[in-house]
Amino acid sequence: MGEATPLVVRDIHKTFNDLEVLKGISLEAEKGDVISMIGSSGSGKSTFLRCINLLETPTSGDIIVHGENIDFKTDKQGVRVPANNKQVEAMRSRLSMVFQGFNLWSHMTVMENIIEAPVNVLGKSKKEAMEHAKELLDKVGIYERRDYYPSQMSGGQQQRAAIARALAMEPEVMLFDEPTSALDPELVGEVLKVMRSLAEEGRTMIVVTHEMAFARDVSNKVIFLHQGKIEEQGPPQKVFENPDSERMKQFLAPKY
Ligand code: ADP
Ligand code: MG
Repeated sequence: MGEATPLVVRDIHKTFNDLEVLKGISLEAEKGDVISMIGSSGSGKSTFLRCINLLETPTSGDIIVHGENIDFKTDKQGVRVPANNKQVEAMRSRLSMVFQGFNLWSHMTVMENIIEAPVNVLGKSKKEAMEHAKELLDKVGIYERRDYYPSQMSGGQQQRAAIARALAMEPEVMLFDEPTSALDPELVGEVLKVMRSLAEEGRTMIVVTHEMAFARDVSNKVIFLHQGKIEEQGPPQKVFENPDSERMKQFLAPKY
């Protein structure tokens, strides 16, 4: 018996009021997969990631994390919600998300940011959490900044700290929502380099990105979303060099 598939998503729909933003999206992330999700602004990429880790509850569809199907129920208002908070907590510790804005706690140093959840959620000792944090800060290249506050660092350093914080939870799958799009252009490379090294370590990652070179060179699967549906998917060679979809061809065409 192999290990359980880290993440399976089946036929996710998400409706806000009357607006159907996700219209049936499925994917499977096998161990070591690096899946890039691309698509125009408003196509539903962020909503999809937020549904995966239940920051939004999908209107319908299944989410199966490490073989465990997330339970949903209908609340008194008739809204679908997760049925079991313990289960949601457990699944969240298997999935770790890195956002576009770095989302570090501004009143904590880098080290404090990183050890907060391992100590308070995973129940690690402070000493153990700090040892692990040191390794992670070395990995992302900012160990010498460990006692800085976020505002004392560049955007690239803050995002690398946010990646270290996500790694500190020892997630099975990392979710990235446009991790470089809030950065000045000269700082994008240092963050992509860290993400590339995570991919090379065999981590399972789902990356929403506009960095086409990253999607093409680092991921093994690419998904192109259009208006809440998967319009094209496959290995990067196929999707970038020989797409079936006219919309994908347009998306790739030079804009000016
Ligand atoms: P992307 O990340 O691909 O740019 P989003 O997932 O952010 O797209 O948004 C997809 C669509 O869903 C947009 O039309 C957006 O306005 C809408 N949307 C996202 N979140 C909400 C929300 N909380 N309430 C209402 N509409 C939303
Ligand atoms: Mg988005």
